[in-house]
Amino acid sequence: MTLHPPIDSGYPHPRRIFLKVAAALAATLPSRISAGSPAGAAAPQPPRVDGQRLNAIVGVFRQFGGTDDGGTTRLAYSAEDIAGRRYAAEAMEQSGLEVSIDLAGNLIGRRPGTDAAALPIIIGSHMDTVPGGGSYDGQVGVASALEIALTLHHHRVELRHPLEIVIFQNEEGGKTGSRALVGRVEPHELDIVTASGLTIRDGIARLGGDPARLDEARRDPGSMAGFLELHIEQGAVLAAAGIQIGVVEGIVGIRRWNVTVRGAQNHAGTTPMNQRRDALVAAADFIRAVNDVATNTEGRQVATVGRIEAMPGAPNVVPGEVRATLEIRDLEMEKIASVFDEIESRARQVGEDHEVTIGLNRFYESLAAPTDPRFRNIIEASAEALGYTHVRMPSGAGHDAQSMAELGPVGMIFVPSRDGISHSPQEYTAPEDITRGADVLLGAVLALDGAG
Ligand SMILES: [Zn+2]
Repeated sequence: MTLHPPIDSGYPHPRRIFLKVAAALAATLPSRISAGSPAGAAAPQPPRVDGQRLNAIVGVFRQFGGTDDGGTTRLAYSAEDIAGRRYAAEAMEQSGLEVSIDLAGNLIGRRPGTDAAALPIIIGSHMDTVPGGGSYDGQVGVASALEIALTLHHHRVELRHPLEIVIFQNEEGGKTGSRALVGRVEPHELDIVTASGLTIRDGIARLGGDPARLDEARRDPGSMAGFLELHIEQGAVLAAAGIQIGVVEGIVGIRRWNVTVRGAQNHAGTTPMNQRRDALVAAADFIRAVNDVATNTEGRQVATVGRIEAMPGAPNVVPGEVRATLEIRDLEMEKIASVFDEIESRARQVGEDHEVTIGLNRFYESLAAPTDPRFRNIIEASAEALGYTHVRMPSGAGHDAQSMAELGPVGMIFVPSRDGISHSPQEYTAPEDITRGADVLLGAVLALDGAG
């Protein structure tokens, strides 16, 4: 195991930055925690995170790839990624965590528990961003995990379970780090050139992992007590309803189809309107039908035609063929199937109406990953105890928790995204929302630790 990535990122040594932040915030740190409450005092309250310090950490992250427009570009495997992870490693050390980098290049901080037989509770998220990304996606979860480690350290809280903080690598480029933990990274993926310009193979090596031994990074199902991830919602459900905490019911499954509409290509000037088999007009009716079915079926499914191409694509030719895509997402794969059945039967009708054929061929599937019902209750109770408003909701976007669900029970907490904007420099989550999310996460960790 390597402690630090081997390549000089060209950034100022992060310890200096961290110490600067630490010094500025020293006043907010509890200098001493009493072992027990004074006689006659009220029952001790569970510890809370230091919101000021937490949001300072989110701010420090911007030193590694922050852009003038308020966003962040910290591509997986880039110099900014290396520097940011080095800073996170320093923060872990400040919390007394044992820091390591696994063979997949994930950064891990481990805190022992009092029960040698207890399985680890894992918390964490990712620090890499998309190009031109925001400063909150993934980063809020990482900063909160680091802050929770600091809080537990300063409050001298002993947990029964070991606590592991994992900062997954390359989430945005295909959840490489978390998928490696469940043995799902295919050998050919190592040759994929990522946005940083490096292949995944070279990127893993740069982070301190070993791409040749990636399969050894795999963990066994049942090897953790559970995984909890705090993340920004990246949608507008919480912000629109003015609700503080989202209790994630699961990460939606996805199915995608190639749609081929075949009509008759002909001269746009000489073919009368009543003698056409216009593939594009039929495709328009099909798209309308997809939207109608998804809108009018009870539930929270979404269906989208995201790409369309007319052949031959000339102003003076009646389109003979249209190629398009169909995507359906829902928390339940059976629901995706039933919505698809309805769309398929509407497609047959559209085909008859326009004397065209509509073929639907599935080319992609990502299975839904429900969160653990017990973890939902724990998160909900944690929010309730803190007096925060909460709602259960699906996650329409993929997350590392989706991979971790193969190892054991997972739970996810969402905090509001302003205007539902994400993967953009405009991405924003208010400091108080970040603090609320971290406190709910801390409460859930403590409850899970006490629960067994
Ligand atoms: Zn993310």
